[in-house]
Amino acid sequence: MSGANGYSILFEPVRIGPVTARNRFYQVPHCNGLGHLRPQAEAAMRAMKAEGGWAVVSTQETEIHPTSDLSPYAENRIWDERDLPALRLMTEGVHEKGALAAIQLAHNGHHAQNHLTRAPVLAPSDMSLETPYPKQARAMDKSDIREFRKWHRDAALRARDAGFDIIYVYAGHHMTLPQHFLLPQFNDRSDEYGGSLENRARLMRELLEETKEAVGDTCAVALRFAVDEMMGGDGMQAHEEGRAVVEMLSELPDLWDVNVADWSNDSQTTRFQPQDGFQTDYIKFVKQVTSKPVVAVGRLNSPDLMVSMVRKRIVDFIGAARPSIADPFLPKKIEEGRIDEIRECIGCNICVSSDTLGIPIRCTQNPTMGEEWRRKWHPEIIAPKGREEAALVVGAGPAGLECAMQLARRGYEVTLAEASPELGGRVPREASLLGLSAWKRVSDHRVYDLQQRGNVQMFTDSRLSASDVVELGIPNVFVATGSHWRRDGRGRTAKRGVEIAAGMTVLTPDDIMDGTVPPQGPVLIYDDDQGYIGGVLAEQLAEAGHEVIFATPAAVVSPFTELTLEQSRVQRSLIERGVRIVPLHRLARVGAEHGELSCVYSDKPQRVDCASVLMVTERQRNTSLFEDLRQLPDAPLRTLELIGDAANPGLIADAVYAGHMAARNFERDPAEVAQDIYRREIISLETAPGQGRGARYNTRPEFEHVGNN
Ligand code: ADP
Ligand code: SF4
Repeated sequence: MSGANGYSILFEPVRIGPVTARNRFYQVPHCNGLGHLRPQAEAAMRAMKAEGGWAVVSTQETEIHPTSDLSPYAENRIWDERDLPALRLMTEGVHEKGALAAIQLAHNGHHAQNHLTRAPVLAPSDMSLETPYPKQARAMDKSDIREFRKWHRDAALRARDAGFDIIYVYAGHHMTLPQHFLLPQFNDRSDEYGGSLENRARLMRELLEETKEAVGDTCAVALRFAVDEMMGGDGMQAHEEGRAVVEMLSELPDLWDVNVADWSNDSQTTRFQPQDGFQTDYIKFVKQVTSKPVVAVGRLNSPDLMVSMVRKRIVDFIGAARPSIADPFLPKKIEEGRIDEIRECIGCNICVSSDTLGIPIRCTQNPTMGEEWRRKWHPEIIAPKGREEAALVVGAGPAGLECAMQLARRGYEVTLAEASPELGGRVPREASLLGLSAWKRVSDHRVYDLQQRGNVQMFTDSRLSASDVVELGIPNVFVATGSHWRRDGRGRTAKRGVEIAAGMTVLTPDDIMDGTVPPQGPVLIYDDDQGYIGGVLAEQLAEAGHEVIFATPAAVVSPFTELTLEQSRVQRSLIERGVRIVPLHRLARVGAEHGELSCVYSDKPQRVDCASVLMVTERQRNTSLFEDLRQLPDAPLRTLELIGDAANPGLIADAVYAGHMAARNFERDPAEVAQDIYRREIISLETAPGQGRGARYNTRPEFEHVGNN
């Protein structure tokens, strides 16, 4: 089958040292907020990728020692033997589906803060931690370095015993010791580990040699290496030292996994980097320097781009973190020629935000991501319908579209009614804003899918009232009528709204998305939402030539975007566009020709003259249809459910998830549905030898996870 569709080159097996990958699809390590805290969930998620056709499936970064303790984040852990059963869950799950399992061993140096272990923090040189926590790392002396090398070697041996096929030395993202030693910004040593490039690369070389010596007969040893820091002449550049490192170590690893640093550059969003395959210019030299296989990333969604990268000898493997999250079955779909069915990553980094929050991974495009174990959701399989025949979904935003699509997949006759002329609700509206066009993939994917199905009827320009719904005679109704932005200033800091004088033009994000142009004169944007949309609107209006003042109670612009690795780009973009930023101020009052701000700490007032105020504060749920239906006499509906933003305004990811959940749970036993949420990985309290039942203290404070709770 793979030969027929022009993509057969992607399905050739590739040898990596002593192991062979069945094809060229390589899921590189990616964080996910599951890790050592939720090992069964992590194993199920990784096994799903293997089932979807990836030839290599990697862990996320895996702490090798208590001096690399990333708590409270949920990474993987291989401190000692007791971590192996959890890791074996993953290797066994991945092997069962025919893929190789890779582990990214990591010592995070001063990137780890050791909050749990309270161990000393280690670094090449004395330095502060990255966060504002007032604690410092100490320069490693020679015995520290010797010990670290032993920890790494021991971890590699344990990883082999846990069943991994590929073992990483990790020098990327500004996150680990071998890279910290390599970069002068972290290393000012004057011994044989500092100074010249050869000296700074010494530790990396030693780790590679020692890992190969320890496990190289059975496991491949990969080097994950950031060839460019994207800081211009202030950092490592691909055409200078980056290349020199690859030349120096070229044949030592069995595989080069190359990217750019730091993480915010490696995982750029489409908002700031719209080009899929954006890392190619940085990494394309690597294959010319080494005979070993090369894997690279850069939001590689398109099969044509993949083929051309292999044909042009830029890479041997198509690396993916986010595309594999958005669509774990991407390889299978390409192999089977189902290109139109690929759920393309939109580059929003909501997945990344889960890691930065330390919570289980989620994805805007793939609502099943992270739910493979807890809810037993399979991205490609859904239970067939029960006794009911038909369902009506009102509102075709992300919640309504996803709900309709999954109901149709289950086999119901689905009617989807949308008030506006376009399907997609908030998705195409937000995608029309500056930098967000890739988000349209969320509605495009679902609309296309629905169009292919014979059991779906879709109506636009169809605003339904309760009597319309009754007249349709469909007894199962999902109401996904969304929300709209408030105009009265009510929000986090003004729970009862803001006093607004007559004469001032007050706008909302909906107005701008509808095409309203603010009147001549300065626009005061008041961002009490503090998500992404306020910053996007500021960029958009400034770009269109408006004078923009951006006021927010937060200390920075769009603080939510710190979680998606975008905040500094957002702030810089506003500054570069000449937006006047007034942080730490709330909107106290709106006059006829000005806004009155007050300092969130001192209440000191500040007057801002403006011709309009754009309120980005809070959303109001559109529930009138739902309420009318709920109050109908004689209960003509068997199912009436409010979903998405109409139930809980949130991210597009939340709306998709809510739509998916409603479709999955339709006609399920409510008691069983209620149990889903309680499926947790619970710490089992081991009773130590010599302590009977009911012993109050456990002298062996390590724990095992047990499932099915
Ligand atoms: P969500 O994110 O929950 O999907 P959206 O706001 O994106 O919500 O989408 C809701 C959609 O519902 C909008 O496109 C809106 O036009 C539509 N809608 C709202 N009320 C009705 C109604 N009474 N009949 C049909 N469609 C409606
Ligand atoms: Fe892509 Fe967004 Fe999904 Fe992450 S959350 S994989 S960036 S679509």
